[in-house]
Amino acid sequence: MIAKKEQTEQEQLIKSLAKKTDEHEFYTPIPKNYEFGKTKYVIVTGSVISGVGKGIFSASLAKLLKDQGLKVEAMKFDGYLNVDAGTLNPYRHGEVFVLDDGTECDMDLGTYERFLDQELSKQNYLTAGKLFSGIIQRERDGKYLGRDVQFIPHVTGEIKSFIRTLAVQTQADVVLIEVGGTVGDIENSYAIEALREMAYEEGPGNSCFVNVTYILKPDSLGEHKSKAAQLGIRQLMSMGIQPHLVVCRSHEPIPEKIREKLSIFSNVPLDRVISLPDAESIYAVPLAIKQAGADAAVTDILQLKAKLKTQEKALARWQEFEEKIKSPKTEIKIAITGKYTGLHDAYASILNALEHAGAANDAHVIVEWVETTKIKSREDAAKTLEGVDGVIVPGGFGARGAEGKILCIQHAREQKLPYFGLCYGFQMALVEFARNVLGLKNANTTEIDPETKEDVVDILPEQKEKEGLGGNMRLGGQNIHIVKDTLAEKYYGATSIRERFRHRYECNPKYIELFEKSGIVFSGKDPKHPIMKILELPNHPFFVGVQFHPEFTSRPLSPQPLFKAFVAAAVQHHATHTPDHPASH
Ligand code: GLN
Repeated sequence: MIAKKEQTEQEQLIKSLAKKTDEHEFYTPIPKNYEFGKTKYVIVTGSVISGVGKGIFSASLAKLLKDQGLKVEAMKFDGYLNVDAGTLNPYRHGEVFVLDDGTECDMDLGTYERFLDQELSKQNYLTAGKLFSGIIQRERDGKYLGRDVQFIPHVTGEIKSFIRTLAVQTQADVVLIEVGGTVGDIENSYAIEALREMAYEEGPGNSCFVNVTYILKPDSLGEHKSKAAQLGIRQLMSMGIQPHLVVCRSHEPIPEKIREKLSIFSNVPLDRVISLPDAESIYAVPLAIKQAGADAAVTDILQLKAKLKTQEKALARWQEFEEKIKSPKTEIKIAITGKYTGLHDAYASILNALEHAGAANDAHVIVEWVETTKIKSREDAAKTLEGVDGVIVPGGFGARGAEGKILCIQHAREQKLPYFGLCYGFQMALVEFARNVLGLKNANTTEIDPETKEDVVDILPEQKEKEGLGGNMRLGGQNIHIVKDTLAEKYYGATSIRERFRHRYECNPKYIELFEKSGIVFSGKDPKHPIMKILELPNHPFFVGVQFHPEFTSRPLSPQPLFKAFVAAAVQHHATHTPDHPASH
């Protein structure tokens, strides 16, 4: 009763401060219809190192909460000044993930979508660039009532408002907020301050801070050392935040005494200092978190226990999937023509989609990276692709390695090796077919050769006028009409589907008829415009190209249909072409 009354007073206070006035020092815009206490917040920060596994941890925790009947939203704050991830180089930062609404974002949002089995939108992603460009626009519009616009309260106020807007619009029980980077970074310091303010305003029992830290084990010592983690957590505490839960990442399980030390130094009860060593696969993480009791601690701290429903069924389905990942019946090799520079994160969603499709086919997919700049002849392609069961040409831009990709596609088409072209891989398949089947020797995409007369792939009319490179491709989910009696119809089992796009070029409409007459079946089309979205070859075990990115919509328990069919074809190829290694053993 008392707690309830206190909360109401708190709420009244904050709401009065939220009123638009220049009389006081606060700036806490509260969205319309916002109800204090309705949505609870889990805030995940990292310490010691970046890349500590916050994203997988957050997504796994969010999944466990969702499985217990809670309505969960996950969002990420990234401290870089890019407005979105669209202009980031995937070989430096990992893949650019595309949401249905066209938002180009950090790959962690892909992990959230996959683990939560739920679509996200631009409201789940905030970068410093997006935040500041909004603030500067509001300043120009005179919205700050003559005040000097400051980090506190204005920048922090806008962050709180962004999060609460997500809460009110989705009516979520829990919003999980992952703060990119580590505690102590200049880039995220004001976001952490905003979250501290928000937790205070929301009142006790409504926010839960989790710090994901790393326990070092220097080779020279051969034992775990907790000092760096202690200092990282201390830094968070010096910012006014008492973590409720500490998650210790490490290579091997950490000894009890490390947890004890951290508990003493951070005021976090021992049973809330959780050890989460490296797992066999990311899919084992939700199960490990559950076993360690992290989700139970969170629902306890957030006083959500009364709202929970049993999660046995969801857990069993996940476990079954994880088992399949762990013990496949067969192994297949898929070649991906991509620059592999040590950062396979550049192709994260493709690798995930292959895992999902692999599990559905009881197969483990081994990826072989093919550097196509080295492929100069048909013989090179044949040699490179020897022993593989399928080829993927993924999304890409520009001329680098394009001729080698075309040679790989020719090999796959002629040798009846399963081929799956994703976006650029669709366009390259058209170029290959035009050159080698239609006899248009100079066929190309105008992206590579703007002067070519045989411009079988050309810029989309809507793209011609656009300037600059940020956020202006044809982006996001589009409806696709699937042509009846095609392989696509068989794979999707539907005549209308939706997939996500990120491109500037397309199959030049003036060549559609010629392609169709010569054996290419366009089995997926834009419902209104002559934009070709899926191509297939009927007399081939699997030769499919798609103008979109099917990898973005694959989910562990519902693999993307084309990936599933491609892997099935590769398993078949393996069984018939590798007599020494029978398909099942
Ligand atoms: N470069 C091609 C285009 O802009 C393909 C893009 C992609 O593969 N995402 O259309």
